[in-house]
Amino acid sequence: MNSPVEEIKSRIDVAELVGSYIKLTRAGSNFKALCPFHSEKTPSFNVSSTRQIWHCFGCGKGGDIFKFVMEIEGHDFPEALRLLAKRAGVELKREDPRIRSERNRVYDLLEDAVLYYQKNLETVLAAKAYLKKRGVLDKTIFDFRIGFSFDAWDGLLRHLTKKGYKEFEIEKAGLAVKSENGSWYDRFRSRVIFPIGDTNGRIVGFGGRIFEAPNVPANKNTETAAKYINTPQTIVYDKSRVLYAFDKAKESIRKKNSCVIVEGYMDAVMSHQAGITNAVAVSGTALTPPQLQSIRRLADTLISSFDRDLAGEAATKRSLDLAAEFNFERKAALLPAGIKDPADAVLAGSEIWHKATEGALPIIQFYFEKALARHNPATAQGVKAISQEVLPELSILANEMEKAHWVGKLSRVLGVSEESVWHELKKVKKETGHYVIINENTADQAPLVKTRKEHLEELSLGSLALFSDLAAKYKDTSDDIFSKDTHKNIFKKIVSGGISDIEDSRDYINQLAFKAEVFLELAGDKKVEVGSLMQELKSEHLKERRDEFTRRISEAERKGDEALVVSLSEEYKSVCAELQGLDG
Ligand code: ZN
Repeated sequence: MNSPVEEIKSRIDVAELVGSYIKLTRAGSNFKALCPFHSEKTPSFNVSSTRQIWHCFGCGKGGDIFKFVMEIEGHDFPEALRLLAKRAGVELKREDPRIRSERNRVYDLLEDAVLYYQKNLETVLAAKAYLKKRGVLDKTIFDFRIGFSFDAWDGLLRHLTKKGYKEFEIEKAGLAVKSENGSWYDRFRSRVIFPIGDTNGRIVGFGGRIFEAPNVPANKNTETAAKYINTPQTIVYDKSRVLYAFDKAKESIRKKNSCVIVEGYMDAVMSHQAGITNAVAVSGTALTPPQLQSIRRLADTLISSFDRDLAGEAATKRSLDLAAEFNFERKAALLPAGIKDPADAVLAGSEIWHKATEGALPIIQFYFEKALARHNPATAQGVKAISQEVLPELSILANEMEKAHWVGKLSRVLGVSEESVWHELKKVKKETGHYVIINENTADQAPLVKTRKEHLEELSLGSLALFSDLAAKYKDTSDDIFSKDTHKNIFKKIVSGGISDIEDSRDYINQLAFKAEVFLELAGDKKVEVGSLMQELKSEHLKERRDEFTRRISEAERKGDEALVVSLSEEYKSVCAELQGLDG
């Protein structure tokens, strides 16, 4: 029988998995993308369905499906194994030591908590009635796993300790609070619970909305309690990364090439219920660079919901400004007057929210129209006010063409020359200052800089592995042309026809073959190309030797060792002759 790892690998296609995180473009038999692990403008990230591996020729990262999940999710192997097992529908034994990890224990605990909260909701009719009043259907409650926490200090604690969890573990998962006297109590009390999933839908935390049952005297704490509370930062919950409903929305975000950003859990839930399945919620804070980055990997357009009167909260504005740095096409979905958020819009009629998102205005146009509605461009004062509102928005546009378009438009509307608009715009730029995009992936890992010789070694070995019938031709070629021992060994095996018994470096050879495959994709006659690769490698090797002799000769000259100079010069000459023979 297959091991679970092999079984999972056989069931999950690498391109499909990687494609659920980043946009892949087909290139021959492979797929290409901009690397999610280092910043680049031309794609050097490749995925091979036939080999079931991925590799970035820019930063050197690569591997199988497990490695990909570990890299992109920041997981250790046990977590990646469990996540992919679930995706593949392969059952792992819970006591399997390979999936034993601190974080997996927290995931288990959180999953048990969700089940508990879900069951609670079934018994609290007032809470169900509240959700019904807000327009949430039973199916939505089920899909989003919405639950309820009783108005008690230890409901969840008792439930989980009975299941064998320790209080400190419940606290570590963010669900219990330790009081001054050392005892624990439930963090969420009398709240509608919205479980928050990670990219793959695993529960990592909760958001709780205050709930006061009608006709019941309010809990004395509710007067001061916040309307919404969230799980604090834990080992699995990082609020700067998680986006509510992203797990459910990601497929749709990719297909629609756009993502709708809403404020609250209810907005996201109701958007999905209304069929706007590319909606995610930020819950009151501005979008962070990591959040924008995970959306950017899937879509070009960001649609933000706007209250027509307030024209967006400060947080929305900050999110959109930052989104400009990620070169998103930004749009504003305007709610009709009197409707305060998307959840209300859906309650009033899902077509209202559909219309708003589908007819979303380019953000600059929105700011533009808003300024024009408030100030008169025919007066000097109006011109000044309009430009003061619009220019800062233009200044953060990353796309110069787009900027030029709006500069032209502004100049026509204001009746001033384009030059003067550009002039004013330059002044704004100096004053506003840019955001610093934190790309944690590039910060600590600069792309590997390989020498030409290293590339040639990898490409020729990879090519020979691809075309084993060519390998015999190089039977008599010395392995000296390779610098690394591993390369020498692989070369010797390949040319002697023994490639199949290189067990320990199979993955590495597979990787090299993949690299060669990508390289040879555009070559006319691939076999001729392999010949010239080998030729080039030999020539690089000889050049290295020639330089080495030059260095040693001058050293011998400095020491006055004439005999050595003579013998080295002989060798130098023969290398040069060999080199000339290659070129000729
Ligand atoms: Zn890379």
